[in-house]
Amino acid sequence: MSFEEMWDELLPVGRDSASGGYRRFAFTAPELECRAWFAEHAHRRGLDVERDANGNLFAWWLPPDGRRDGAVLTGSHLDSVPGGGAFDGPLGIVSAFAAIDALRERGAVPARPIGVAAFVEEEGARFGVACLGSRLLAGAITPERARALRDGDGRTFAAVLAEHGLDPDRIGPDDDLLARVSCLVELHIEQGRALTAPIGAASAIIPHGRWRIDFAGEGNHAGTTALADRRDPMLPFARTVLAARSAAERHGTVATVGKVAVEPGGVNAIPSAVTAWLDGRGPVDDAVRRTVADVEAAARAAASAHGVTVELAEESYTPTVRFGTELRDRVVRVLGGVPVLPTGAGHDAGILAACLPAAMLFVRNPTGVSHAPAEHADTADCLSGVAALADVLADLAAA
Ligand SMILES: [Zn+2]
Repeated sequence: MSFEEMWDELLPVGRDSASGGYRRFAFTAPELECRAWFAEHAHRRGLDVERDANGNLFAWWLPPDGRRDGAVLTGSHLDSVPGGGAFDGPLGIVSAFAAIDALRERGAVPARPIGVAAFVEEEGARFGVACLGSRLLAGAITPERARALRDGDGRTFAAVLAEHGLDPDRIGPDDDLLARVSCLVELHIEQGRALTAPIGAASAIIPHGRWRIDFAGEGNHAGTTALADRRDPMLPFARTVLAARSAAERHGTVATVGKVAVEPGGVNAIPSAVTAWLDGRGPVDDAVRRTVADVEAAARAAASAHGVTVELAEESYTPTVRFGTELRDRVVRVLGGVPVLPTGAGHDAGILAACLPAAMLFVRNPTGVSHAPAEHADTADCLSGVAALADVLADLAAA
């Protein structure tokens, strides 16, 4: 089955017909359908499917001698942000299966296992922590904290795992699995306009994090409560959003408030609470830290001016990830020289780079749009990505 045929199979899954955006949250129906698709395509190719204790999926192409160690891992994720694009995540998985097909058509016989991974909850759209599956695998989040994470309906990650046949008490780092992997190469759509060639390789992931800001005031009637008597958490929230923008401008970072929850959410009621999520990223750790410190100071000042309390909690933070130059240079050499560029987006490969040699291939995104329906890569570039990934896997798994 060709890349295009596989791509077309996944395309309708979890797509909103009106906006064209995807909603494939971890362990919800559309994502489960994508996971079933993954297992089916692995089985069709005779690959061994393994689901680890954290819910990550792996499909293994074992060499003729049945060797299981020294594996070359590729793949990406199947989940999406709310209203996301089609390519972020699935491109790396469809390309991996297509690359395996290309290698087999060439008659290649790998000396090492080649694995295709589908990491769970990469976007953190359901439980709040990005790259949750790879973080658990790598020991970059404690099992206790992961178990207690809640989705928007108040359901814990532990409960959702149990519902899908996973034992929440067994989640956490998997040193045995990691010991079987010699390196990871994740293919991903580029998420800005920086890549002008069809294919590129990653140098680094800039530092990024998420913070939750809870403003608590007093719910009351929108008509009968005098302005002087109000403790309205919406007001310091609004000031905080503007402060995030100016702090980002001051420190040369980016800061975004893209999610907010208002309680109780009535048109004619002063809110009792507002919870906002801040996403902050920048070229260096210090700039991101200073941005967040300024946002927190502004939130505290505005909250106190309005008789509102405020708490700021870090939900996740990933410092600068520099991909090792040895693997990256090898990948670039195999591809005959491709541009090397940093990215402002977090990835599972960035988390796992702490445990094993990791590299990333990017496929050009002509619109530069990502996490939105306009995210796009041309088919010709996707096919170049498949060919590049096949070349890289062939080289890495050769001996
Ligand atoms: Zn992604």
